[in-house]
Amino acid sequence: MSAISTENLSKIYQKNPEKPVLDRINISIEEQEFLTLLGPSGCGKSTLLHILAGLMEPTSGAAYCQGERIQGPAQDRVLMLQEAALFPWLTVKSNVTFGLKERGIARTEREKLAQAELKKVRLADSANSYPHQLSGGMQQRVALARALVLRPDIILMDEPFASLDEQTRFQLQQELVELWQDLKMTVVFVTHSIREALLISERILVMAGNPGRIKSEYRINAPYPRKPGQADIVRREEQILADLSPSRQPSSRENSESYREVAAG
Ligand code: ADP
Ligand code: MG
Repeated sequence: MSAISTENLSKIYQKNPEKPVLDRINISIEEQEFLTLLGPSGCGKSTLLHILAGLMEPTSGAAYCQGERIQGPAQDRVLMLQEAALFPWLTVKSNVTFGLKERGIARTEREKLAQAELKKVRLADSANSYPHQLSGGMQQRVALARALVLRPDIILMDEPFASLDEQTRFQLQQELVELWQDLKMTVVFVTHSIREALLISERILVMAGNPGRIKSEYRINAPYPRKPGQADIVRREEQILADLSPSRQPSSRENSESYREVAAG
């Protein structure tokens, strides 16, 4: 059974009724898969992710999690955003334990779990710091720990590293892949960076905008850890760049109901 799937999912915002933002999206994401939605700004990535998180409803069609229709947020699905959105008045550790407290987990257990999670994101020494004392990369690590401590089956990530410098971003990409391998969760990652998508994903769904749709699919078989300069990644980068180019004529098999699968290699 798919971890996540959608069936002819469309979204129209009231403000702009003639222009669907998402047009008949059909996707299926396997359990424990690392799947990236890649597309230009405005193509509907965040809208789709918010629907999968259960924070917004589609206008027509449906989204499913483990075969059950998504009708609201759930404990097994967590959403992580570009901005860490930590509570500034709470320490790093308290930010991480917050969700556990809401789940009724006892204090000593919460602290133990938070400390272990902070260790995994290399922030064990910063447990008693406040968010403003941390760099952007460290803040995103806290946000990651806060999400992962809840042991979600599925983590939905909306450009979580987009505001970081390149070096920090690369480091966090590698760490995320390690955590995903370790925790065996399903990752649905959103980015507009082709390189980022190629470094972390098992599969990439390329989106196009106006209306938002899935345009093509790439399976990336290169083993982890991957490096930006390695030949197969560079080759794929050129291929996807050409694919994303608006001047490119869509092939006959590309439409909103079926998308192209590009051969592995
Ligand atoms: P992406 O994340 O790919 O940049 P979004 O899902 O944020 O795309 O937005 C897709 C389109 O929907 C954009 O044209 C955006 O302006 C529009 N949009 C997003 N949110 C709303 C909203 N709440 N009301 C009306 N239009 C919206
Ligand atoms: Mg977005």
